[in-house]
Amino acid sequence: MSVVALIDFDPATGEATGFHLGDAEEPQLLVTDLAATRGDGIFETASLAHGHVHALEAHLARLAQSAAMLQLPEPDPAVWRAAVEAVGEALTAQGVDEGAVKFVLTRGVEGGSTPTGWVYGTASPDFSRERTEGVRIVLLDRGYRHDVPQTAPWLLAGAKTLSYAVNRAALREAARRGAEDVLFTSSDGYLLEGPTSTLLLRHGRRLVTPRVDLGILAGTTQADLFTWAEAEGYETGYELLTPADLASADAAWLVSSVRHVAPVRAVDGVARAVDRELSDRLNAALLARVR
Ligand code: PLP
Repeated sequence: MSVVALIDFDPATGEATGFHLGDAEEPQLLVTDLAATRGDGIFETASLAHGHVHALEAHLARLAQSAAMLQLPEPDPAVWRAAVEAVGEALTAQGVDEGAVKFVLTRGVEGGSTPTGWVYGTASPDFSRERTEGVRIVLLDRGYRHDVPQTAPWLLAGAKTLSYAVNRAALREAARRGAEDVLFTSSDGYLLEGPTSTLLLRHGRRLVTPRVDLGILAGTTQADLFTWAEAEGYETGYELLTPADLASADAAWLVSSVRHVAPVRAVDGVARAVDRELSDRLNAALLARVR
């Protein structure tokens, strides 16, 4: 079950004018699109549950931020919001209860000046095992210092670009080492993020996540979890964290839009405690969102 909406652009101005639903089983992209030939574009993936697309405004804001970093035309939030909502509604009408809605903006075909954009929605796989039993992770060096956004902004650290081949390679390395997921570290030893997730640690009644000025994505899921946790009386914070902080944490999770909260149950082959009760409450809070 899948749905696609194609964004319409005015070829004269390059501005988005609206969208139309397409056939998700039919080819929609030219082989010369820079998304396909160079990975030159950006994307967002939002979760859909019980008829609601989650954190859409935060995803639209991050799409705009990525566009600015890549000097792509500013995405028109009204057009993208309407297209994402339409795809969410069409998926829900097909009977999808939990799904993923991915929206992509590319630099368009080579030599042209009109961007390409689409929204693709599909049913989610069953993540119940990862959400309850958790994942084994390995720490992998990303190869950049923690201050790379300041020293080498052209590396686009912190933009959600389509160039995820490195992130996929890291996951294959994790599998080779008998784990399911990865936590990247900076070359100078700070905890960063997963290839598709944000790290969350609990020390007592305090939840912390790595600072977002380290060239990592500002997680929309983590932001919603902090809002929930603060209402529950937890302290929250953005910090410079090291592997020692991970080792001493009472609990650790990788959190992301579609899989939601996955407790970390082992790091580099060493088992660690899982907070099943809080994991369940965090996942329930995410699934209960209506926006
Ligand atoms: N970091 C990276 C590199 C990601 O790709 C993602 C999501 O795919 C995240 C963090 C988590 O972000 P979000 O919670 O907005 O899905």
